[in-house]
Amino acid sequence: MQALIDKIHDTLRARTSEGRVADYIPELAKIDPAKFGIAIETVDGRSYASGDADEAFSIQSVSKMFTLTLALGKVGDALWQRVGREPSGTAFNSIVQLEHEQGIPRNPFINAGAIVVSDVLLAGHQPREAIGEILRFVRFLAEDEGIVIDSKVARSETATGFRNAALANYMRAFGNLHHAVEMVLGVYFHHCAIAMSCRQLARSGLFLANNGINPLSGFRVVQNERARRINALMLTCGHYDGSGDFAFRVGIPAKSGVGGGILAVVPGLASVAVWSPGLNAHGNSHVGSLALEALAREAGWSVFSR
Ligand code: GLN
Repeated sequence: MQALIDKIHDTLRARTSEGRVADYIPELAKIDPAKFGIAIETVDGRSYASGDADEAFSIQSVSKMFTLTLALGKVGDALWQRVGREPSGTAFNSIVQLEHEQGIPRNPFINAGAIVVSDVLLAGHQPREAIGEILRFVRFLAEDEGIVIDSKVARSETATGFRNAALANYMRAFGNLHHAVEMVLGVYFHHCAIAMSCRQLARSGLFLANNGINPLSGFRVVQNERARRINALMLTCGHYDGSGDFAFRVGIPAKSGVGGGILAVVPGLASVAVWSPGLNAHGNSHVGSLALEALAREAGWSVFSR
């Protein structure tokens, strides 16, 4: 496995310049596009890493897996009255479907859906407390108290997140946000600004590869059925309008973020995180996707066969 990821890292390193780093969040535009890391954690306790696997980066939408898991813990299936479970077929920050669908976002991984999830996590809390709860959960999953929020990134997005403000205001007009837009966006921007390394991210995803139990600590994070459903949503919606192609090429559940990170889950076997900041046309890591495609092919990993 180590030789395999080293080979993949070596082969694809030269292609990191093909993608485009997200620049609509000014702070993200400063990242070196040549960064490239891969980390694997297996459910039986082995770790492998290659390249920049220990450098923290902005996890952005990968955080939506964590907030979805927390929100389901809080309100259970009632969440599905406010957020759908269908792929959107539109860009991650699109507003078009919201008008036709009465302010109910298609799924919890597009921005609109994750903003509703933030609103759910805000219930009974001040934004600071909700953000603290999310961060504590991520630290617990990764078994790492060193994980922090990059406040520069959060500020940068707060200053420029006009589309997200539009989505939030629009949903508030439909009654699908229960708190003040500024408060909800505060929670959303801060969880997107969590900084983690590939190694930390891979550890934090292990519970999804192990029927809801973190194999490192033995703690049950969610019931088996919930882990399965979160994996299903990652497979169908985790790469926005690129989800079909990702399932076709890679074939395992995964969640991407515009920071260039992808967290992928191989049920029963492993959790994998990759990071390469250059994005493809759908806003998913270009080389990260290629790396997961190569890894899944070489290792024979797929949820569609065994
Ligand atoms: N914070 C980013 C945004 O709202 C997250 C998007 C992403 O990672 N796809 O635009």
